[in-house]
Amino acid sequence: MNNPKILVVEDDSTVRNLITTTLKSNNYAYITAPTGEAAIAAATTQQPDIVFLDLGLPDLDGVEVIKRIRSWSQMPIIVISARSEDGDKVAALDAGADDYLTKPFSVTELLARLRVAQRRIATIESKPGDSVFRNGKLTVDYAAGCASLNGEELKLTPTEYKLLCLLAKDAGKVLTHTYLTNKIWGSSWESDMASLRVHMATLRKKIEKDSDTQYIQTHIGIGYRMLKSE
Ligand code: CA
Repeated sequence: MNNPKILVVEDDSTVRNLITTTLKSNNYAYITAPTGEAAIAAATTQQPDIVFLDLGLPDLDGVEVIKRIRSWSQMPIIVISARSEDGDKVAALDAGADDYLTKPFSVTELLARLRVAQRRIATIESKPGDSVFRNGKLTVDYAAGCASLNGEELKLTPTEYKLLCLLAKDAGKVLTHTYLTNKIWGSSWESDMASLRVHMATLRKKIEKDSDTQYIQTHIGIGYRMLKSE
């Protein structure tokens, strides 16, 4: 996909103009919506590829917009939030958002998030039937139930392997602590959060050792993301 179409949902015209000017000068096509209802309408009729979504909209809560879009589409949604509370971002991510930007953000940051979303589209499209995941030197063979680094099989515990599969299957997307602990242990108590940190640390030691590649990104207070190489 060379020139994806971006839907920019933002009621603040200053921020909206900053985003559209950036998109325009970087040769992205875009459409805009100032409200939640207009966003849902545009998402259904204009077939955007990626959505930038402000959480604080005049009519609907941004989280509601995410839920509605997610009922029929997997298009990457990047949340833009002026709120500094991590809780809002976590709620948005749990509703199905892929990523977030906190206001004020830089143009460089905006473009970096866009590139992650573009790579994520490739992951979503290659998903069905793909039994092997490749990311740089890292390979996860879902069918065989094992993972390797540089062709050498990794000795992972069942929990580390599960974690790696969850991150790989949603590479490029920020997965929240609650999502991960629920998937692994079926609960999200404080003790599960603590276990998650421990298993994540041991997993990272194994997949990021002797390597200049960072595969997993930590989002403090929010969750983790697997970085996908180009
Ligand atoms: Ca707003």
